Amino acid sequence: MTAFHEFELIQWIRSQGGVSHSNLLGIGDDTAILKPPANSELLLATDMLMEGAHFTFPPATPELAGRKALAVNLSDIAAMGGTPHSALVSLALPRSKGPEFAKAVMQGIMDLAAEFETQLAGGDTNSWDGPLVINVAIIGIADQSQAIQRSGAQPGDWIFVTGTLGGSLDSHHLTFQPRVREAATLRDTVTIKSMIDVSDGLASDLQHILTESGVGAVIQSRQIPISHNVSPDLTDAKRLQKALSDGEDFELLFTVSPEEGQRLRDQNPLAIPLTHIGEITAGQGALLQQADGSTTSLENTGWKHQL
Ligand code: ADP
Ligand code: MG
Repeated sequence: MTAFHEFELIQWIRSQGGVSHSNLLGIGDDTAILKPPANSELLLATDMLMEGAHFTFPPATPELAGRKALAVNLSDIAAMGGTPHSALVSLALPRSKGPEFAKAVMQGIMDLAAEFETQLAGGDTNSWDGPLVINVAIIGIADQSQAIQRSGAQPGDWIFVTGTLGGSLDSHHLTFQPRVREAATLRDTVTIKSMIDVSDGLASDLQHILTESGVGAVIQSRQIPISHNVSPDLTDAKRLQKALSDGEDFELLFTVSPEEGQRLRDQNPLAIPLTHIGEITAGQGALLQQADGSTTSLENTGWKHQL
């Protein structure tokens, strides 16, 4: 293995070009400089992925690990109804893996950054004798007071989810598409009252909206859009449970007024499925209603978020 220095990697990253925004001075100085556009707000988020916890080699490749580290952050910006702007990347690289591995991780990040017009604004590069750790900090932009929070759901709101749910860990948790464009389309079509991205599973993430908004919900079990990645060999109950609790779907879960919900149901403005799965109520907690009208507490359907 040839000697490899952080400096060479940074030079290589800079030589790759990438997205460049006129209001941002990116890599090369002690800090990046961002001039926020007038009448905008900055959205800030960070997420860290650790080899062994969030991905393993295989099935992950260094490119896919890098890709996922940025994708989960883009998903957070999408969930706020924002536009991704720039990202900072911190790497703890396993010393034994060498420069090509480091470049591959960065390549996965840079390719997705280009796809979502996100400028690499800087970062930190270290190597050690431990496994790969990737931290991405992201900056997004929203119009003044337009960022969509978890706290805006109101009784009567219709609840929607994009895409399909379940089975992500066996299929697309490394390759999922952050729903940035879908969130922008929805935001421009209706007034989204509350929104979250489904990272831990619908049952768990819906609860965040309910808690922050001080409301309850009734979900229709037969309306849950179960992914084809959930095995058809399982019982219907088990398939539903996986759709509700597997997590890592990174779909959007949001609420709108009933009038706007009707419009979205009549004409889906997205190129992916959009499903009306239930309503917000004045109560507390979430109920799962079966086809026969009976209800159970959503918390009792068997989902558990494991740390
Ligand atoms: P400093 O010593 O001042 O903290 P560094 O030598 O760590 O600076 O980094 C030099 C430049 O390269 C900085 O602009 C930093 O943001 C950028 N940088 C370092 N690592 C990465 C990376 N993995 N991805 C993008 N930019 C990086
Ligand atoms: Mg410095």
